[in-house]
Amino acid sequence: MIPAPFEYLAPTTVEDALAALAEHGEDAKILGGGQSLLPVLRMRLNAPEMVIDLGKIESIRGIRDDGDAIVIGAMTTHAAVGSDPLVAEHAALVSRAVDHLADAQIRHRGTFGGALAHADPAGDLGAPALALGAQFVIAGPGGTRTVAADDFFIDLFETAIGEDEILTEVRIPKHTGWGAHYEKFVRVAHQWPIVAVAAAVRVEGGVIAEARVGLTNMGNTPLRARSVEEALVGVQATEDAVREAAGKAADGTNPPSDLNGQASYRKHLATVLTRRAVVTAAGG
Ligand SMILES: Cc1cc2nc3c(=O)[nH]c(=O)nc-3n(C[C@H](O)[C@H](O)[C@H](O)COP(=O)(O)OP(=O)(O)OC[C@H]3O[C@@H](n4cnc5c(N)ncnc54)[C@H](O)[C@@H]3O)c2cc1C
Repeated sequence: MIPAPFEYLAPTTVEDALAALAEHGEDAKILGGGQSLLPVLRMRLNAPEMVIDLGKIESIRGIRDDGDAIVIGAMTTHAAVGSDPLVAEHAALVSRAVDHLADAQIRHRGTFGGALAHADPAGDLGAPALALGAQFVIAGPGGTRTVAADDFFIDLFETAIGEDEILTEVRIPKHTGWGAHYEKFVRVAHQWPIVAVAAAVRVEGGVIAEARVGLTNMGNTPLRARSVEEALVGVQATEDAVREAAGKAADGTNPPSDLNGQASYRKHLATVLTRRAVVTAAGG
């Protein structure tokens, strides 16, 4: 289908984009890579009067080393994130998740910030961002604020980004030397997961010293499997030893039931995928 008619602006600075947002208010929509927004417009599920394209704002594209964090500009494509050596070295969990995100065509257009702002509970980037304790930098009319991952994801397709704000970058604390794995269960290749698990572990002498585990599509937002993380500390990095801790993966979750699987099936999947993700991350 053809989208409803809209006006189009492509500012070159965040300030100009914010000014356009302020001027057009709820009639405006931000365009990142367009991989989620354009299908929505074409199906006429949304009909903004003004589309503000961030594609010409160079300051929010790219990846940099900032001491104890890796900073990823919101308009950096999935392909650029997935092939970046800094991300691979210091935030390998993000690289592993991007490896599984959609197909090459979408990874070359879709953006890191756009996917996180879209907040699809089945999106592949939320769980790794949550597990690694990412910080979201959001620009608005009153200046810039930073929101912790725990407070960023609010509900289905809803984040802490206000209607007059723009996500500019995501800061990911370095997890250098941690093992990482993203275990994604799909029915059809290159699609959103039925359930996925993001795991990063620090192993010392064959024993798990620290663990971070995030769950995809196990509720309205990405979730952190804290009871698994706690149970993994001090456990041998072997499949048998990890099994018991991974059994807690569905604790406190509220997954959907749909044509791809009932909630009870997803809860079972979460435990199996958590075991696989942790064992692989730990090098077992
Ligand atoms: C066929 C297909 C398969 C896919 N498979 C997967 C998959 O397996 N896993 C997965 O995770 N994703 C998948 N996706 C989605 C893909 O990751 C998109 O790139 C992503 O959801 C949106 O990113 P975008 O940059 O294209 O954002 P857009 O589509 O441009 O925008 C999405 C939303 O975020 C808002 N937005 C964008 N950027 C910003 C910003 N900087 N600040 C504030 N708001 C912003 C927009 O206003 C819009 O509401 C798939 C998409 C398609 C079409």
